[in-house]
Amino acid sequence: MSPLKLDVLKKSEHKIIFVTEGVSTEMINSIRRILLSEIPVMAIDEIIILRNDSPLYDEIISHRLGLIPLKTDLDVYKLPHECECLGYGCPLCQVSLTCEITNTTNAPLDIYSGDLISNDPKIVPVDPYIPIVKIDKNDKIIIEAYAILGFAKNHAKWQAVSNVAYRHYPIVEFDANEFKDLEEKKKLVKMCPKKLFELTNNDSLKLKEDYWKSCTLCMSCEKNSNGRIKVVPKKDVYIFSVESDGVLPFDVLFRKVFEVFNEKTDEFVLKLEELEMES
Ligand SMILES: [Zn+2]
Repeated sequence: MSPLKLDVLKKSEHKIIFVTEGVSTEMINSIRRILLSEIPVMAIDEIIILRNDSPLYDEIISHRLGLIPLKTDLDVYKLPHECECLGYGCPLCQVSLTCEITNTTNAPLDIYSGDLISNDPKIVPVDPYIPIVKIDKNDKIIIEAYAILGFAKNHAKWQAVSNVAYRHYPIVEFDANEFKDLEEKKKLVKMCPKKLFELTNNDSLKLKEDYWKSCTLCMSCEKNSNGRIKVVPKKDVYIFSVESDGVLPFDVLFRKVFEVFNEKTDEFVLKLEELEMES
């Protein structure tokens, strides 16, 4: 296997794309699965609705509140079952968010995620403009909500990332001299769903320079050229992309991935040792 290499192609607040080299499929898939379901994040889990004059049922409002992404601090908060309070609820494992609003205007009033007042200024909705409900004039809403850390394997509201995917790094190879018929070349240019082929000034078939960034290995070019164009996945090289709603920054997310991975391998070794002792 080639030495480990990592090249970041794109990084913004909500998306990161990088190329990895020298990492096996198994390892890449473990990273994907841990990102999807094993990173704890904050989400509202308990709600007390003291007053609800809105047209929506309490259950619908509760469901909406549960799905609001909250900024998470993994250094301060503990998982309820690991907390000294044994999950009963204390400042180390729980954050309260309250909302008490009376519509004193003469028009219907929208209530947004930003109207939730948190007892920890670091644990707030990532976006203050997520609509929750609309109330009519003189109507009132009083809500008490409690957020805790949890895992996406138990409920999707605790998912740390919005999307995570990887694909092989594609290598597309062909000899331009093998393509003589202009109509066939035009057809090949047209058939690629990502429009990665083009014709040069002298009508020769050419691949766009950074084709590998968009190629999805759909094999359309290979099928339509009777195999004269070859699409080969480069071994142990992957393009990995992660989209986040902003609950945790990417550096914290990836640090946590390897922490969880190490915990799992340690647990596996321990279980193996126990088995050996038994036999
Ligand atoms: Zn606690």
